[in-house]
Amino acid sequence: STSVPFIAALGGGSIVAIIRLTARPPENGQASLDKFVRKHWVLVLCCVAIWSLFFSWTVYQFGLSSAFIFGLVSTINFSTAIAHQFSPQLKRALFCSLLCLIPTLVVIILFQPSLQVAAFALVLFMPYLMLTAKNSHKEYYYHLENKLQLEAALVELEVLSITDGLTGLYNRREFNHQLEKALAASNRTKQAMGLILCDIDDFKRINDSYSHTAGDDCLIHVAKVLKQVFTRETDIISRVGGEEFAIIVLDDNENSAMKSAENFQQALSASTCFTQGHEIALTASIGVVRYQAQMNIKPQKLYDLADSAMYKAKNNGKNRVEYAAL
Ligand code: GH3
Ligand code: MG
Ligand code: MG
Repeated sequence: STSVPFIAALGGGSIVAIIRLTARPPENGQASLDKFVRKHWVLVLCCVAIWSLFFSWTVYQFGLSSAFIFGLVSTINFSTAIAHQFSPQLKRALFCSLLCLIPTLVVIILFQPSLQVAAFALVLFMPYLMLTAKNSHKEYYYHLENKLQLEAALVELEVLSITDGLTGLYNRREFNHQLEKALAASNRTKQAMGLILCDIDDFKRINDSYSHTAGDDCLIHVAKVLKQVFTRETDIISRVGGEEFAIIVLDDNENSAMKSAENFQQALSASTCFTQGHEIALTASIGVVRYQAQMNIKPQKLYDLADSAMYKAKNNGKNRVEYAAL
């Protein structure tokens, strides 16, 4: 029948439903998300309060009726769904699911003694509800933590798979990938790029004279100098072999890759690696090649050209830069 409580419940429920369906979680920031969740809880609470009060009124008014049976089953479903669905915030979930049951329980005890058996069933149901909500809560956080750990491990694995463990630079595999990407980008943007290959001079002698560990420290030192010289966001520095490094750079004008290579050659020879009480001087032989859009050269061929230029630098006396003529 169209009574005032029915219209009030229908109206209130509809308003809550409309707000619920139109509200969307914000995408920017934790603070606004927290605010959204708080508002969401107010909606849940309003919804539960409307249902619970309306059902209590139905019980008070009609006692045992088909409305009572329908309402009782729905209330049990509703409170169970709340306890599970919102269990990540356990206290709030329990409060809302009990709010579903308790007003009806009070009405039965006070005004409908013939329905006491239903009240008894509801009382028995409450601890079960609380226990399952608690388990749902535990399981939710267990799965969440597992998922976060798995995601973190995947990120770590991805970083490890592209990084050289000693220097923290990109490894050879990632260098190959980056070189392919750089050539494709160069063809697309018509922007020339340079490939610089550096091989540390007489490195075997450093290992033999000092120690392998000192040699490792020298490689770390070279990586540090490389990072100091090649500072542009687009510079890609990799360790491509034992004591060999490659740098992919944008070549804005005819000479910029060559100039950067010379800067590095000078910076390295002017620097000293301090390790294990030794002061070790290092130099590198460097080969540079320039790639212009649509040159139609394969990455491997470009690498070979830079490698030949690097060997030319070795043959011409080391600690110098040579340019590959295309
Ligand atoms: P060149 O001037 O002709 O390049 O002579 P080189 O001694 O630098 O070249 P060679 O290829 O003869 O020796 C390279 C040495 O680099 C040999 C190898 O033991 C050493 N090496 C390779 N990888 C590592 C590493 O990770 N750590 C250390 N400490 N040494 C390494
Ligand atoms: Mg070498
Ligand atoms: Mg060498």
